[in-house]
Amino acid sequence: MKKRLLFVGPPGAGKGTQAARLCEQHGMKHLSTGDLLRAEVAAGSELGKEAEAVMNRGELVSDALVLAIVKGQLGELGDGGWLLDGFPRNVAQAEALKPLLTEIGQPLEAVVLLELDDAVLMERMLSRGRDDDNEDVIRHRLEVYRDKTAPLIEHYRNQDLLIAVDAQGSIDAITARIEEALTGG
Ligand code: AMP
Repeated sequence: MKKRLLFVGPPGAGKGTQAARLCEQHGMKHLSTGDLLRAEVAAGSELGKEAEAVMNRGELVSDALVLAIVKGQLGELGDGGWLLDGFPRNVAQAEALKPLLTEIGQPLEAVVLLELDDAVLMERMLSRGRDDDNEDVIRHRLEVYRDKTAPLIEHYRNQDLLIAVDAQGSIDAITARIEEALTGG
């Protein structure tokens, strides 16, 4: 199975849930920039203070800040595989990531795109109850996804790394679909 992975998909697609399951099942390291940022906010660090307002508006924190966090984690990736969840979030981050992975001799093997309908997305996010999950903020996060993050789909398709998976249905069914997609081919 391919084990050096990125997840791309709209907010609410279930990236965090699926990433955690996959990593637990297959002994990979789960690196979520959203979780790392929320931990900084909770700890009240300088970095967290800088990120909090931006996150609550549903916008992206600066590339510099996110890259600093990611760079700090690269040494912890180990050799059992890893899954980057929520990073990169735009083409500039993807371009910054590539040489970092080359440098540690661990190039990306696949980018999993989680696909689903907008109506299902909104429903999933409203039921989650996070600070940045009220309806206006969600709408804004979807816009940010379309503008900034969705161009990654073409970016990685051009590099022959993209694997699209239907992210609707039960959590178990989606996990099984992802595993199958990463095992085949
Ligand atoms: P997530 O948990 O991935 O939905 O991320 C929650 C929030 O953290 C996002 O709405 C952004 O404000 C911020 N964030 C997470 N990852 C990134 C990233 N790679 N680049 C910029 N902002 C990010």
